[in-house]
Amino acid sequence: MDIGGLETVVANSAYVAARGSVDGNAAATMRDKKMRARLKLPHITQCDHLKNTVDMSFYQLCIKQPIGKRLFQEFLSSEETFKSVANLWKDIEDYNSAEEKDRPKRSQRIVNRYYDSSSKTFCSFLDEKAVTRVKEDHKHCRNDLFKESEQLLLKYLEGNTLESFKASLYFLRFLQFKWLESQSVTEEWFMDFRVLGKGGFGEVHACQMKATGKMYANKKLNKKRLKKRNGYEGAIVEKRILAKVHSRFIVTLAYAFQTKNDLCLVMTIMNGGDLRFHVYNVDEKNPGFNEERACFYTAQIICGLEHLHQNRIIYRDLKPENVLLDDKGHVRISDLGLATELKDGEDKTKGYAGTPGFMAPELLKNIEYDYSVDYFTLGVTLYEMIAAKGPFRSRGEKVENKEVTRRILNDPVTYPDKFSSDLKSICEALMEKDPSKRPGFKNNECEELKKHKFFKSINWGRMEAGLLEPPFVPDPKMVYAKDISDVGAFSTIKGVVLDEKDKEFYDDFSSGNIPIPWQEEMIETGVFGELNVWGAKGTTPNDLNY
Ligand code: ADP
Ligand code: MG
Ligand code: MG
Repeated sequence: MDIGGLETVVANSAYVAARGSVDGNAAATMRDKKMRARLKLPHITQCDHLKNTVDMSFYQLCIKQPIGKRLFQEFLSSEETFKSVANLWKDIEDYNSAEEKDRPKRSQRIVNRYYDSSSKTFCSFLDEKAVTRVKEDHKHCRNDLFKESEQLLLKYLEGNTLESFKASLYFLRFLQFKWLESQSVTEEWFMDFRVLGKGGFGEVHACQMKATGKMYANKKLNKKRLKKRNGYEGAIVEKRILAKVHSRFIVTLAYAFQTKNDLCLVMTIMNGGDLRFHVYNVDEKNPGFNEERACFYTAQIICGLEHLHQNRIIYRDLKPENVLLDDKGHVRISDLGLATELKDGEDKTKGYAGTPGFMAPELLKNIEYDYSVDYFTLGVTLYEMIAAKGPFRSRGEKVENKEVTRRILNDPVTYPDKFSSDLKSICEALMEKDPSKRPGFKNNECEELKKHKFFKSINWGRMEAGLLEPPFVPDPKMVYAKDISDVGAFSTIKGVVLDEKDKEFYDDFSSGNIPIPWQEEMIETGVFGELNVWGAKGTTPNDLNY
């Protein structure tokens, strides 16, 4: 074995071993004890300033933020009068995430406990209409069986418990966690593992948060390279959008910080590699997916696009290379460096952005466009997943961008014989040259597209909840990335000097912990549980004593 090969083997084995620690229990054993000891709750007197800065709305405080929600639920369970409603809330959530076969038992139990006026734990805030509907309907066990009840429950909680929660020790405990969350983060909190891929401005490495043991991907953007190639705007857009969206179909940003040379985006690690690698490199003699597999990925991508579009974001760079697989075989959209946000009141934008061979005709014509460009790239991506070639290029053909553009604007797409009629029909619809005739995002959702025959096997409710079994599960011992020596080095950047204005930009970029993912990490790795100790019943813990 040559030195390059050996380097890859050594790097892979360190990475695969660290990756074994993704589940919470094992993560504890992989932690760096010294760094873990630095995660400590402050005394409550240090948190007073946070009372004026944290968002106190019911939704933000008690629902959206994982630690806020946990502490709110603990508060409810500690108060005799709210115990039933707290239990109903948990039982509804369990029902929603349960497998189909377990649902009848659960729904029956919920009805007996909370919907029957003779039960001790009857929930009287549920109005008659909701009670009747659930009682009549519960044998069908639909996804939205308790939707109306849940809304009533949250409304009740907001009206009857929010103020006392804010006056409780549980809220003070929340402030302590917000203090810890707001501490700055630097490279010393992370340990780097092997390179996973190469981007335009730097490498992406596997990394581990030392204090919790959680694995992430660290996308590095070289400061000088960014400046030289005018990358600031794209970098800040990518960061802002990633921090804003929270979807299981889009990579999540957990930390943004800087080192001497780089800006760093720490994101969900996608150990299964990108779809391009799977289409072409996993089985080189037999490239491409079967329709069932491509259908599953396409459905997940649609869920991701729908979320972006609901947040007024046009993605613009959908292609197999930017769709990544996780350990279980679910996919997420990544690389939002070319995305753009529509301002309030605007419904179209202009500008050349994307990858040759994928871009929609209206974008290439340099006229105004909207979300519909992302459904054209979706069509190209779906086609390529199965045909193992792009629709506007023969296999192995080298063509100039100008010719590819000409074909996208003028030529009809031809389909290999193996395409089923449903597949061909959805590809044709998505690669429709006239955006007004293309299915996509209408009335704030992708309903029409989801109803297409090609997706007849997809249960969208369960898909949204992450409950569908993926068609392919990556091998936990495999590394779905190029050998290290094949990743390729960067050229050195000469003649770039960084000044005060650059520094200002870097500080703005380096906003530190992103609240929701940080809180999730604390809960999932067990650190939240270790820190959230209460002492003897009826006493106030020392750290919460004013
Ligand atoms: P660029 O914006 O420069 O294209 P990307 O975000 O696409 O950079 O990252 C470059 C490559 O790094 C990707 O093609 C992929 O192989 C790898 N990569 C990026 N993000 C992740 C991630 N979250 N998990 C695993 N690998 C990743
Ligand atoms: Mg990319
Ligand atoms: Mg990019």
